[in-house]
Amino acid sequence: MLKDNLQEVEKRVSMACERAGRSRDEVLLIAVSKTKPVEMVQEIYDAGVRDFGENHPQEIREKFPQLPSDTKWHMIGHLQTNKIKYIIERACMVHSVDSVHLAEEISKAAIKSGRCMPVLAEINMAKEASKYGVMPEDAEDFIRQIAALPGIRVEGLMTIAPYTEHAEENRVYFRDMKKLFVDIRGKNIDNVNMHHLSMGMTGDFEVAIEEGATMVRVGTGIFGASNYH
Ligand SMILES: *Cc1c(COP(=O)(O)O)cnc(C)c1O
Repeated sequence: MLKDNLQEVEKRVSMACERAGRSRDEVLLIAVSKTKPVEMVQEIYDAGVRDFGENHPQEIREKFPQLPSDTKWHMIGHLQTNKIKYIIERACMVHSVDSVHLAEEISKAAIKSGRCMPVLAEINMAKEASKYGVMPEDAEDFIRQIAALPGIRVEGLMTIAPYTEHAEENRVYFRDMKKLFVDIRGKNIDNVNMHHLSMGMTGDFEVAIEEGATMVRVGTGIFGASNYH
């Protein structure tokens, strides 16, 4: 049952918090529901989760009206500018801002919708050729460039660590992310309010929490393996 999966993940989140000397409420569990039918999302909603992550804008558009209105949708996947329209009034945050152009287009769309979109800068911490995201050494400069855009609010950083069977191998990336986060926060850039560090997935969320994650994105651990379209 999905509820049992959730309970197990929840237990592991709590234990990781405890090991790290952190309070459980410092870490938001985002249930990644990509490719999963609304019935499954509803089941996890009914078990108490309110935050869901999707990586296709169309899926947010489709699921949005089918879940209760206090459901929060996090856009966590690569976002093309021509799809911004699907999420601009539906997503609570875009975790995957990886170019100035995308940030500008989100800002424009947000202003048109009369809102301000919270965003995270996606960092390619392990410098993988297959991944989106800004290189860590360019992160500060990138954030300075997008910070002044009136329709977005930069609230932190996000990374997708390499796929590995050994979570410990990703500890170095999570640790470096936290350093980068603290470093940029210390610059007190105007209009930047660094308080979210979105990192950790099914395979490595405990290590991410130990290294300072404030948001973990867990799909497989809750819903089972994805049915990729
Ligand atoms: C799919 C996905 C996740 C969740 O991955 P799991 O390994 O299934 O927990 C987290 N973040 C992003 C960006 C994803 O696309």
